[in-house]
Amino acid sequence: MDAEQLREYGHKMVDFIADYYKTIENYPVLSQVEPGYLRNLLPDSAPNQPDSFQHVLDDIQTKILPGVTHWQSPNYFAYYPSNSSVAGFVGEMLSAGLNIVGFSWITSPAATELEMIVLDWLGKMLKLPEDFLSAGQGGGVIQGTASEAVLVVLLAARDKILRGVGKGALEKLVVYASDQTHSALQKACQIAGIYPENFKVLKANASTNYGLSPELLSETISKDLAHGLIPFFLCANVGTTSSTAVDPLLALGKIAKSNGMWFHVDAAYAGSACVCPEFRHYIDGVEEADSFNMNAHKWFLTNFDCSALWIKDRSALVQALSTNPEFLKNKASQANLVVDYKDWQIPLGRRFRSLKLWMVLRLYGLENLQCYIRNHIKLAKHFENLVAEDPRFEVVTPRLFSLICFRLLPPPNNERYCNELNHELLDAVNSTGKVFISHTVLSDKYILRFAIGAPLTEEKHVNAAWEVLQDKATALLGESLR
Ligand code: PLP
Repeated sequence: MDAEQLREYGHKMVDFIADYYKTIENYPVLSQVEPGYLRNLLPDSAPNQPDSFQHVLDDIQTKILPGVTHWQSPNYFAYYPSNSSVAGFVGEMLSAGLNIVGFSWITSPAATELEMIVLDWLGKMLKLPEDFLSAGQGGGVIQGTASEAVLVVLLAARDKILRGVGKGALEKLVVYASDQTHSALQKACQIAGIYPENFKVLKANASTNYGLSPELLSETISKDLAHGLIPFFLCANVGTTSSTAVDPLLALGKIAKSNGMWFHVDAAYAGSACVCPEFRHYIDGVEEADSFNMNAHKWFLTNFDCSALWIKDRSALVQALSTNPEFLKNKASQANLVVDYKDWQIPLGRRFRSLKLWMVLRLYGLENLQCYIRNHIKLAKHFENLVAEDPRFEVVTPRLFSLICFRLLPPPNNERYCNELNHELLDAVNSTGKVFISHTVLSDKYILRFAIGAPLTEEKHVNAAWEVLQDKATALLGESLR
């Protein structure tokens, strides 16, 4: 690592990235390349001799960027956002620069201690119960993704119950969630050895706005108990991936508690909004939870990856995930004076991820972050109104945050073509390269998702996207009438 070369390349790369952001709207939002495009553009093997930095930058411009989908484009409205910001970026840069591997406190005390402090800060911003903060038996940890977060708490919960009922009972352990829950939970169950038939996916429908019904949960648990099964884990959602549905946390949490189950809350996307007092009620009932997760990398200006997980009983995680090999032993860990985050996650190694979240919190402050969320929600209301004003479209589920679920209605007597029509509309819109939106299916209806949350998005981008949608709808409806 030559410091002067770092300075030279680093300045050039920052210039390159700044120029990228200045011209980001010139690129098609959704990459338009064909599968395998890059094989034809790059040599078969790595060079024997070093290439020049400028040559590499040129290749990035001409060969790599065409194959990039521009998540930071103001015209990106697909899936959920993945935020980038100056603060998040420079934090990420510092993390790469220091390049520590902070698995135990001793490997970089600042990495562990800053992570504990920053997650306490964020926990307080979200008004999480004190039990989730590091002063007591709980605390926060940064995982890479919500998938890792739900996996580690599932493992903690599994081992905790098995310590009570005996290891042989694994085949009886039951996990519950609504059918709107992210597939990350299914994957976690597969990894944790939960028997597939014991992963109970409970149907949620339009009558509860796709929230999980406490009555259905209670009934299912009672039946399972009667069959000698052991209910042990419930995952609830605040902001589902399809439609931002919110499960009734308080009622569900009480059922989980009365049955001795672990209660996890997945607020990967919508958790960010809860730093605003007017949206905090969406996580009312979180006091019943054993663990709570939100992705700061989705909608909180923190560059990927930064998934914040809080847990009330950190010893449950540590008991499930700790190992203590000779080569990692050290005085601070042996004396139990410190947190060693290696015992709160799957891998050993870990990056200094708290730096970027710390930078975001310090350089923007709570008030700006609240304004940021509110602005996207205002834009989402605006888009919702645009859709509602055009009788050819309908808003399908109530908008709670900054996602609008809507669809194009078919011409009279053509209802059965509705799904096909919306699929075609999605493809037509995305192939323009002017916007990128995604879809879902709810109650057998093919639905378009318009998720506002890219940091550069302004009202003019929302209006332009709506124009593209309207134009393509006009063309499609014209064709279908012919
Ligand atoms: N949970 C919800 C509600 C999500 O929306 C997502 C992804 O969008 C996930 C979990 C999985 O996220 P990750 O990629 O962080 O594992």
